[in-house]
Amino acid sequence: MNRTFLTGLATLIFALTSAPASKAEEVDLIVKNGIVLTMNAGKEILSDGVVIVKGNKIVEVGGVEILGKYSSGDAIDAQGGIIMPGMINTHTHASMSVFRSLADDVPDRLNRYIFPLENKMVSEEMVYIGAVHAAIEMAKAGVTTMVDMYLFEESAARAVKEIGLRGVMAQNIIKYPTADGADGNAKLELATAFVEKYKDDELITPAFGPHAPHTVTKENLEKIAELSEKYDVPVSMHVAETQEEFDKFQSEFGMTPIEYLDSVGMLNERLIAAHCIFVTDSDIELMKLRDVGIAHNMVANIKSAKGVSPALKMFDDGLNIGLGTDGPMSGNTLDIIGQMGYVAKLHKLVNNDRSAMPPYKVVEMATMGGARAIHREDELGSLERGKLADIVIVETESTNMQPIFDPYSVLVYSANASNVDTVIVNGKIVVSEKALRTYDEEKSRAAMKEFSKKVEEITETL
Ligand SMILES: [Zn+2]
Repeated sequence: MNRTFLTGLATLIFALTSAPASKAEEVDLIVKNGIVLTMNAGKEILSDGVVIVKGNKIVEVGGVEILGKYSSGDAIDAQGGIIMPGMINTHTHASMSVFRSLADDVPDRLNRYIFPLENKMVSEEMVYIGAVHAAIEMAKAGVTTMVDMYLFEESAARAVKEIGLRGVMAQNIIKYPTADGADGNAKLELATAFVEKYKDDELITPAFGPHAPHTVTKENLEKIAELSEKYDVPVSMHVAETQEEFDKFQSEFGMTPIEYLDSVGMLNERLIAAHCIFVTDSDIELMKLRDVGIAHNMVANIKSAKGVSPALKMFDDGLNIGLGTDGPMSGNTLDIIGQMGYVAKLHKLVNNDRSAMPPYKVVEMATMGGARAIHREDELGSLERGKLADIVIVETESTNMQPIFDPYSVLVYSANASNVDTVIVNGKIVVSEKALRTYDEEKSRAAMKEFSKKVEEITETL
């Protein structure tokens, strides 16, 4: 995309010669000459659209006629590309990128590889290296907000801030000993300190990350419910992910996992529940009533052969559901564009209906749906006046992107992450002309290659 800078004298000359310059409002960035998918309630598309940014907010979205109202020293010509809201990855474990592609199809991989590797290798350094690497991948793919959950989460938060993304970062809480704490109580303390430290951060929203209903004690779950209310922060958690989990709560408590979470006070508007594969119709009603957010991780769920969440029903019933990738050991890739085609096609197959889950719906899940899932629909998820300036330009010059009869179809069925050209987060340019502008990508790749040698050594001992 062509970017024009006007500085110093040039800005002055531009201001003096542009009519009606005297009335033009000075702004920070003008994005123009693209197909704007607003994702607003009216599903408005502007075929030759303009987005105006001042500070970290969008001040106006409209057609070319609004250009005369504003002047800026910085403009991006989208060259006919698709201008859309930043995508939201509602569930991942960024730092697990250090283990990606290891033992992918081994049965019982969790106990055979993941837990032993984590016990031997997780450190603040490892979390940072993995999170930088993953955040770069997400940024370059147009993910502007990620919901993350892992050990030593403060190191991941530091990485995400350096790349310049927005993050809902949840400190993991699990009853077993891990590198960052001996038991659930120790990790709850770590999480609380992290929440207090980052509570007012502009890009990072700290959160509690109880691992799952059956891997955290009832006492800790009740305490997390209380603390998340006190600090008014989100809770990210794996919920109803496996048949075994569902059966366990049925036999032990005569409840579904969702009913159990409700009984301990966890089912509320602060919860971002990942997976929700094994949910009943009455669970879905209850989640709607409690205003829960949901992360639909289709690719990771089908790769592990767990099942397909009734995400389409949840979306159609008006629940707050967005798309997620899960960790890079589970779903391998971290971009939301790569999820969209699977989401559309799998739900068609499951429903035996090619008209089910049309592209618009999938793009809505990737943007506004994600914003609703994290309860930030007033600030994120669409390109509208007053919202935070998280904007993505997907180029349409590549062969795979042409022709364009329906931009939603192109995004869901034809595009891939490498078509993302420009990414703006909180009004700042993070990616332009497909290159990361905030961090030395080569430095990150080198750190990952170095770390992978250690992973290889440890893996051989397992
Ligand atoms: Zn997960």
